Amino acid sequence: MRENYTLPRLYTDADLTAGGGVALDRAQSHYLSTVLRRGIGDSLRLFNGRDGEWLADITELSRKSAALRVGLQSRPQTSPPDIWLCFAPVRKARNGFIAEKAAELGAARLRPVLTDRVQFPKMGLEKLGLTLIEAAEQTERLDVPQLSDTVSLGKLLGEWDSSRALIFADEAGDAKPALEALPSCPAPAAILIGPEGGFTDAERERLRSCDFVTPVSLGPRILRADTAALSLLTLWQAVNGDWK
Ligand code: SAH
Repeated sequence: MRENYTLPRLYTDADLTAGGGVALDRAQSHYLSTVLRRGIGDSLRLFNGRDGEWLADITELSRKSAALRVGLQSRPQTSPPDIWLCFAPVRKARNGFIAEKAAELGAARLRPVLTDRVQFPKMGLEKLGLTLIEAAEQTERLDVPQLSDTVSLGKLLGEWDSSRALIFADEAGDAKPALEALPSCPAPAAILIGPEGGFTDAERERLRSCDFVTPVSLGPRILRADTAALSLLTLWQAVNGDWK
């Protein structure tokens, strides 16, 4: 039975130790005081991705600031399976969807990748970072997915650590069914999803020439990039991740 799940849950980058003091930023103070209508003496849960989750009490609160006193640790730190989501940016709202689902589905890191057919290369990483934090708070994760700077596909492959399996969602249709291929792609692993326009033949050839790449098919229908990202992450978690 999950303890304390009714208490609000906030991410902080502050260290968390018993008896320690933590200050919240303006947005979090506003959320606590005005949205959740909490007050002095109320409790909440804090996590920072390093020290586990801790109970904390509100000692000061206004719309602009809040001070908390850290109490007991409610959950020890654990790390999620080492799975990355590498994805070509798509239209704005859908990038937010991809980020939120990746956080819920336990992606450890998101890596935006520019491929030839990306139509919206300028993707706001700041907004995406906030989406990841909110999703991590909601989904009860003990960490927030890391967000890398956008890189080109060439740079990503050129610098790839070949000890990490790169699972390439290849819509060309002649790749192995994902469920068949995934058992040989345990963590550390990464998933690569293309843009609305798909991968070019040259990109497909380049990818398939890398020994750390495993092309996989997600069935006979063409999925939207966000659907493909969600589906393949789900499959990977079920086969190799923490859904056991
Ligand atoms: N416009 C392209 C498809 C792009 S879909 C076309 O019509 O061919 C966006 C991305 O989702 C693809 O690049 C691929 O990474 C993934 N994807 C979509 N459907 C897939 C499938 N059936 N198998 C494998 N990957 C798929």
